[in-house]
Amino acid sequence: MQTIYEPKGAAREYAPFALNLYRGCAHGCTYCYAPLCLHMTRNNFADVSPRIGIIDALKTYLKKSIPKETVLLSFTSDPYQPIEQEVRLTREALEVMNGLVPHVAVLTKNIIVRDDFDIIAHNGWTVGATLTCYSPEYSEQYEPHAPLPAERIRMLEDAEKHGIDTFISVEPVLSEAELELVLQKIKHLKVKNGIRIGKWNHCSEANKINWKSVLNTAINYANSGKPIYIKDELAKFGNVPNNLRNKFFG
Ligand code: SF4
Repeated sequence: MQTIYEPKGAAREYAPFALNLYRGCAHGCTYCYAPLCLHMTRNNFADVSPRIGIIDALKTYLKKSIPKETVLLSFTSDPYQPIEQEVRLTREALEVMNGLVPHVAVLTKNIIVRDDFDIIAHNGWTVGATLTCYSPEYSEQYEPHAPLPAERIRMLEDAEKHGIDTFISVEPVLSEAELELVLQKIKHLKVKNGIRIGKWNHCSEANKINWKSVLNTAINYANSGKPIYIKDELAKFGNVPNNLRNKFFG
C-alpha cells in the first residue's frame, strides 16, 4: 500500500514527499484534477472514504525510513474531510508522525484543521489554505462544499496566533480580479512559507484569462515583501525572477 511517496510533475512543485489519507474528496471543486489523475468519475470521487489500513502502513514505513524533507498532506484529497471529525484519520497520522517526521505541511480548505493546531505547533509543522478566489459567489460556484475563503483566512490568522508558520495556495487562479482580491485580503498575514500561485489547466474557461497579466500581478505583489512562488505552468508567460520560482518548504 502506498504511504509516503515522492510525487512527480506539477504535484512535486509543492513538496518532495506526500501522503494521501482519504480516497476521494467531499469539497466538490469543479476544477479538481484529482479524479482525472485517479481515473475516477467525479461522483465516485465525491463519495469519500478513509484509506483502510493507511495508519498501519504508515507505521511500517516510518520504521524503515524517515523522510528528511517536507511531507505534504495531501495531493489527491483534502486531509480535512467532513468525516475527519468522526474518524480522526488525519489526526491519527499526525500522531504517528509526531516527533519523528521533521516537517509536515498540511494543505486544506477546511477550517477543522484547528482541532490539530496543538500537534502541528508542537512539532513546528506548517498549515496552508487553498484560496483560488475570495468572493462567496465564486467559491459557492467552484468549491460548493468547502468553507468560504474568508473562513479559511480566519483559520490562518488563528494558526499564526498559535505560532504556526502558514502558506497559501492560489491554484488554480480562477480570474484576475479574484486573484487581486485574494492578495488584498491576505496582506495582514505573515505566510512565512509562501504564497504559491498556479495556472488553471484542463479547462476551456481558463483560456479566457490573460495569464501574462496574472503573472505580472503576482510578480508585482512580491514587491510587497511577501514570499511568492510562481508555479512552472504560469511562469511560462513571462520572465520570472529566480527568487520567485517554485521551491520546497523547509
Ligand atoms: S479540495 Fe482539493 S481534492 Fe478536494 S475537490 Fe477540491 S481540489 Fe479536489
